[in-house]
Amino acid sequence: MSFMTKFLNNYVSQIAEFSEKNPRTTRNVNVSKELAKHIKNFHHKTKTLQNSLNDSTKKLIEKNSIVLETAHQPNFLPYSGIFKKVILLEHIARNLEKKGHSVVCLFSIVDTDFADDEWFASNRFPHLSKSGYLKVGIKIAKKDRKKCMYAIQKPSQDTWENITESFNAHYDNYLKELEREFSKQNISDFKQNIERPFQEKRDDLLDLLEQSYQKAENFADMNAIFLSNVINDLMNCSTMFFKYSDGLNAFEEPFSRLLYHNIDYIKLYNRFATQFELEKIQEIYAPFWYHCNSCEGKVPLQQKGNKLEGTCLSCKEQYIFDFESQENPNLSGVIERISPRAIPRHYITFDGLGVSFYAGGHAGTLYTSIAEKIAETLNFRFPPIFTWFNKDYYTGVLQFNYFLKIHGILKLDSYDQFQHKYSELETQTSQDVKELQNQIELCEIEKKFLKHGLIESQNEENRSRIISELRTITTTERRLKIHMQQAENKISILDNAIESFRIFPSIIDYLLNMNALSLSEQWLHFLEKTEPPITQPQLLKTNFCKFLHSKFSWLMNIENNIEIITS
Ligand SMILES: [Zn+2]
Repeated sequence: MSFMTKFLNNYVSQIAEFSEKNPRTTRNVNVSKELAKHIKNFHHKTKTLQNSLNDSTKKLIEKNSIVLETAHQPNFLPYSGIFKKVILLEHIARNLEKKGHSVVCLFSIVDTDFADDEWFASNRFPHLSKSGYLKVGIKIAKKDRKKCMYAIQKPSQDTWENITESFNAHYDNYLKELEREFSKQNISDFKQNIERPFQEKRDDLLDLLEQSYQKAENFADMNAIFLSNVINDLMNCSTMFFKYSDGLNAFEEPFSRLLYHNIDYIKLYNRFATQFELEKIQEIYAPFWYHCNSCEGKVPLQQKGNKLEGTCLSCKEQYIFDFESQENPNLSGVIERISPRAIPRHYITFDGLGVSFYAGGHAGTLYTSIAEKIAETLNFRFPPIFTWFNKDYYTGVLQFNYFLKIHGILKLDSYDQFQHKYSELETQTSQDVKELQNQIELCEIEKKFLKHGLIESQNEENRSRIISELRTITTTERRLKIHMQQAENKISILDNAIESFRIFPSIIDYLLNMNALSLSEQWLHFLEKTEPPITQPQLLKTNFCKFLHSKFSWLMNIENNIEIITS
């Protein structure tokens, strides 16, 4: 049995055991009370404070509740991984509740990170191009790159309309292509079975996006509102959202504690960094950022004795703070404007709220291991952490277009022949291209010869014969070049189609092709099965998969082989 399967079998009891051994304290309840105010405000604004969520905010301030947490930056129309973190929490919560525990799920929105993060302002949509995707979003201005995410304004109405229009047009193109293909193959009911359900989903989504845009105070807020709307409303999950920018004041004590241990922390970190082959940190490192008063830029702080010093990375303003004593650091002057660095982040919420489980991210696994090792030595609260990361496949409007292309070019009976047929086509193409290139070269030589003759010749009759021959050769050459392009195109269409299946697309592509509730249920169902292990890819059902399967007998076979084809 794999580690993960074993873990999934035991996790519920593991988490229950952890929370029993590390009960939440009155201090945890007090921190939670402060946090609950922010949470309620946010969900009031997003209009997602329905009954189950209201109950969650009450449970958060009860000592005996088990707190499950995850955290992420508020990315633009993010990929599925962010949603899967929540699904993992919900899955665990349901299983703990079955055993009689009171459980709450919390999503910390890290909107204090650098605004120039790749995923913060744009995301990917599947596309038949070399990269396999179309990028949709905004560009963060150079002057804003070192600022906190929450300091970025939402786009102007015009820019916003351009963004939604760009992916609208993208889908329209592929829808039209699909409609042509259906009529070519004499398949009726395209409108009823594909176009209409797709348009309905699209209208709903555009409304939702427009609401997030209208309600948002800044770009990060807009992304957070969208996230909450999808998770709380569409997916019916009761995970609560807490934005760092709403204030980390409640965590003053864990922050002070971290500073108290800072010298030990640095020593331990650097010892483990060598072990994990990570870069060491400076001996004057402070575990949090300050946010510049003038520009909301990020200020990396350094500890020098009882002082914290730093320069704003954006406007270069300098800061010095006195926290009075190492034994009992006083952070009251800065607490309103600080946020933890990546690894210390864990200690702040784990310790402050009394967290008993954390859903981790794919990118941070190495850092999590270091964080755990340091926590062990310093006796920090460190709950079980688990990361769910796998690939989804589904046949949406875009994907079906790409499948049609692959099928049309390779004409496979079964997709396990893919590799063989692809190699065959590749060899054939390179032979054809070489042959065509030779012929083109011959044309060029002939043209050169004729042109020379034209210059030399004085005879009118001769000249017009040469000119006519030149025309014929030019036409032949053009035809050869088109043939070469066509031969090469087949391979690049295949390559682009394969590439489009490798990307992790924006959640929008999922939500256009399937109901959000069905999506969350399919994910939950996947987690409930112990086999296959949860790192295996999942094949999801779309709103029109039944219709497509009934009309295209080869589709199921390619869907079942797509992982092999793309790897
Ligand atoms: Zn500044």
